[in-house]
Parts: sequence; structure tokens; C-alpha cells
Amino acid sequence: MNTKEQLVVDLTAFEGTITLNLILENPFPRDVETTSPVEISISILKAAASVIVEGRVKTTAKTECDRCLEDVEVVIEGNIEATYLSENDRSIIQSEGQIDSLENLFLLTGDLLDLSDRVLEAIIVEVPQRVLCSESCNGLCPLCGENLNKAPDHKCREDAEIPDEWQQKLKELKKRVSS
Ligand SMILES: [Zn+2]
Ligand SMILES: [Zn+2]
Repeated sequence: MNTKEQLVVDLTAFEGTITLNLILENPFPRDVETTSPVEISISILKAAASVIVEGRVKTTAKTECDRCLEDVEVVIEGNIEATYLSENDRSIIQSEGQIDSLENLFLLTGDLLDLSDRVLEAIIVEVPQRVLCSESCNGLCPLCGENLNKAPDHKCREDAEIPDEWQQKLKELKKRVSS
């Protein structure tokens, strides 16, 4: 079973509010690499001509250290806030010129409300862009790419000596020119 289907709510099947509590194995394998199941709790309130969605998602995801590029697991806790409007409401708001200023506003199409995009967004925005495996991460050797956390005594001696040799030659050259 495609678990994403569990995030599709039939709006004709209830009145008032329902709460969706799900624990899904990664429903978005192509978009985000989670390392534990995604806990989802969403309440859906049916109002006159709109549907108000509020919820939380919780999981862990894999990303990479900004310095050493090793995998780092991060805890993800995201929020969902969305208002779905019917076609009629949308035209009213557009005529008043407000739709661009309203965030988290979506158009209701039919009786099935697919919340998978909202859940995915809530996870993705919480994955940090820059993360370190530890504050004291030593990163990679700038010359050969060796992971300096795993090889703390690593030195690229041969490479490091080349600039010195060049500097020596440069000094000799300058001496010759000035004399
Ligand atoms: Zn690191
Ligand atoms: Zn090196």
C-alpha cells in the first residue's frame, strides 16, 4: 500500500473536525531521506466554505555534515498550517486583491483533500541547510580530502612542502634580479 494515500481525506465523510493520527514509513522516499517513521497528527476543521488544517509532524532525517560530509541524523519537528478555500471564496479574495498576501492558502478541488504536500513541506523546511556532526568537527584535508576526524594526525607532507620549495626558488630569483 502506498502510504501517501492515507494522507488523502474525504471531506464528505465527516462534519466538523476530525483528527488524523498516523505513523508512516517514509511516504516521500524521493524527496527526503528519513531515518525513522514519520509521526503525523493533523486536525481538519470543516467551516462554511473553507477547510482549516493544523498539525504536527515528527521524524528524523539524514543530511550531511557541512565540514566533513559524513551523514548526520537530525530530529525534525514541523508544523502544518493551511487554509483551503473553495473556488467561490478564492474569487472573492482575488477581487479584493488579498490572495498574494495570504500565506498557507490553498484551493480546494473536489471532495478529496490530499495533505501529502503539506506534510512533505513541513518536513523539508525543518531540515537544516548547514549542520555539523559535532561543533569540534575537523573537516576534510583541503589537499587530499582525508577525513581529519578519522585521521587526526594526518598531514599531507609532500604536498605541503611544495609551496616551501617554490618560495625558496622565488627568493633566489628575487636575489638574482636585485643584484
Ligand atoms: Zn563533520
Ligand atoms: Zn591530506
